[in-house]
Order: sequence, then C-alpha cells, then structure tokens
Amino acid sequence: MTHSDFVDPDKFFDCVHCGLCLSFCPTYVELGTEMDSPRGRIATMRSLHEGRFGLDAEVVRHLDLCLGCRACETACPSGVHYGELIEGTRSFIEQHNTRPLPERLKRRVINAIFPNPLGVRFFSFLLKTGAALGLGRLARSQKLPQPIRYWFGLLPDKETVSSATLLERYPAIGEKRYTVALLSGCVMPALFGATNQATVKVLRHNGCEVLVPRNQVCCGALLLHNGEKTAALDLARRNIEVFSKLELDALIINAAGCGAMMKEYGELFKGDPVYHDRAERLTAKMKDVAEFLGSLPLKAPTREIRAKVTYHDACHLAHGQGVREQPRALLRSIPGLQLTELQESDWCCGSAGTYNLTEPQMARRLLNRKVDNIQATEVDLVVTGNPGCLMQIRAGLQQRGLPIKAIHTVDLLAEAYEE
Ligand code: SF4
Ligand code: SF4
Repeated sequence: MTHSDFVDPDKFFDCVHCGLCLSFCPTYVELGTEMDSPRGRIATMRSLHEGRFGLDAEVVRHLDLCLGCRACETACPSGVHYGELIEGTRSFIEQHNTRPLPERLKRRVINAIFPNPLGVRFFSFLLKTGAALGLGRLARSQKLPQPIRYWFGLLPDKETVSSATLLERYPAIGEKRYTVALLSGCVMPALFGATNQATVKVLRHNGCEVLVPRNQVCCGALLLHNGEKTAALDLARRNIEVFSKLELDALIINAAGCGAMMKEYGELFKGDPVYHDRAERLTAKMKDVAEFLGSLPLKAPTREIRAKVTYHDACHLAHGQGVREQPRALLRSIPGLQLTELQESDWCCGSAGTYNLTEPQMARRLLNRKVDNIQATEVDLVVTGNPGCLMQIRAGLQQRGLPIKAIHTVDLLAEAYEE
C-alpha cells in the first residue's frame, strides 16, 4: 500500500506555507525547529508521499513528536485538515516502518491495553492495586529515575479511583424531554467511574432518559492516533451497529478525545457502502456533554460552591470539536463559583492520548508549562473535560505539592445539583 492509500494527497496543497500556525504549535514553540512545526510536518508528509523522503528514523521522529493536538487547525486560515494528514501518515508509518524493539514492545502493550475491555480491566486492577499500595504517592516522594517517576506519578490516588458500573437505563428526573445514550468508554469506567455517574446524574436532572448499551466498545481514538487504523475502524463499526439501533435525540460523550474521534466516523467511512450513511446519521447526534447541556434550557444548579476555578480547554474539545464557551457557561451557572481565565488555556498539557507514555520528555515539558499557568491563577480547582488531561494535570499539581484539585466539568455540576 502506498502513502496515498492512507491520506488524500490533494489535502497537502491546502497549505500555502504562510507560517501563521507556527506560534500556536506547542512542539515548535518548545523546540524552535521547522521540522517540528505544522508547516514543516506537512512538507515532510508531502515529501514522503512524493518519494523525496524515505521512512528514516529522523523523519519518523519529527512526526512522532506531533501531539495531534490540532491547535494548528484552529490557527490555519487555509482550512488545512492537519488531523487527517497526520493520522493517515501514522497508519502508513506503522505499516511500513520497523521501530527499534523496545519502542515496538511499548507501543504493542499500549495498543493492546486500551481498546480491549479485558486489557482495561487488567490495567484498572493494576492501577487500583498500585493506588491501594500508595505507589502513586511513593513515586512522587522518591527519587526514581525519569521517566519512570513521571509514569508512576500518573497513578491516581486510591480516593480518586472509582469503577462504579452503570445500569443500562436511567429514567429522567421529572418530566422526560429527551432520550440520550452515553458512550461509557474504555478508560472512563475503569478510572473515572464517578464521572460517568455524575454525567448520568446531570443529564437526568435535565429531563433525559439515559441509555448505556452494554455491548458498546472503545471509540478507537487511541488506536487511530497510534496509527492502527484498521483496528480502530473495527471498533467504530461495532459502535455504529450498537448506537444506530436506538431512537436517540443525542449520543453523549464525556471524554473529549473520544468525542473528536467519533465525530470523524462519517469521514472515516467515506465511500463505504455499508457504513458511511449510518456513520453520518449517528455523527449528527454526537454531542460532548457540555455541548449538549449548553444547547438546553439548563436546569439551574442550586447548591452554592464557594471556590475559585479555572478552565483548561482539552485540545480535542476546543480544537477538535470547537466546544469552548459551553463548559465555561456551565461553570458560571454554579452559584458561588468564581471563574478565572487560564493563560494558554487551549495549549496542550502533554497528555495527548498516550503521548505521555510514548513521548515522556516533551509531555513533561508541556505539563510544567501548564502547571506554571495554573499556579499563576491562584485557584482552588482546575476544571476540564477529558480524562487524559485530568490524569496528566493531577500528576503535575501533586508533583509540585500544590493544593489545587483537577476535576471534570460534570463532577462539579453534579455536586451543584445536590440538595
Ligand atoms: S498549515 Fe495553514 S497556517 Fe500553517 S503554514 Fe500551512 S496554510 Fe499556513
Ligand atoms: S497537531 Fe499540535 S503538535 Fe502537531 S503540528 Fe499541529 S499544533 Fe503542532
């Protein structure tokens, strides 16, 4: 298979080399090298396509360092579809390039764990055991070598791990106005079960009957970002089968990375006679939870929460889905909450799917930058809408010993609905 089996080569020509995206690209700003900028990477991918570059280690390195944050898409006046270009190229790389053995093994383990329910359950068991043994705290207090210390630091503490399972159906509280389904996810139930419960609670308070079909699977985002497109499409097909059978007003997603991926299902199945139209119809119903709540006459939260908060825009919510104002409006609706804007709020925190596992050095640099900005706001809480960002930012705050909690938007909103 050639590079053009993975990307639409016409899309390279959308880039007019103006450079307006450069100062918005975290890796370019950190490293200052053209090859680590969006413009440089597009030129590299085009050279690969035209056969002027081969898949040597240096070329792969510059493409690996891309976060896939899509800040360049927001900045680009020419409408370059950078996400499609890098994801397609990554699939091409994984099919045609042989990485060094340790790197290959690491990627295999990551790709085996996340989309597989058994893998996630096992991972969850390890995390819970690690958390119960206090490994997260231990790692933060010991002088372990980096990046091991950083990886262990991502372990949540015992009190933040919850794997509460969901029922298949929850009735609306009060008058039923909508029927929605929830993507429960692969990482969310294992590590953020309480956030899934909070999502259901907030939706029910707003007149939603909530369906959580049992046979749904991982959205496929982590696989797609790691270049495993075939496996990602298999998962997408299964989700299309499951959710298309339901009569829904909306399919709700509370993890930004999953939402951005699922909203691409239509594009991913372009030309597929069986799945394309069904994918398009389902995509039209997909909403991030903040986006959906922002479109309703929201039931006003009544419980006062006296706290200073700031909001971190997850890349796949802000750049990937254009959802910026709705989460802020939800926070402003909570009595007593004081919202302070965060400097570089839509700057990647370094989590970026599994980037913090595959590229720990750059991930740590970006985390430090994020924590510096959070610290400057002097808040009690930092709120965001993506589990990866929550784990990454929590680790950064704890490593610095800051008394600031990182929390999902719906967790705070659910608290504000409590009597
Ligand atoms: S990606 Fe867009 S902003 Fe960046 S150089 Fe190309 S045209 Fe300009
Ligand atoms: S996706 Fe993010 S890291 Fe990659 S080129 Fe675009 S702005 Fe830079």
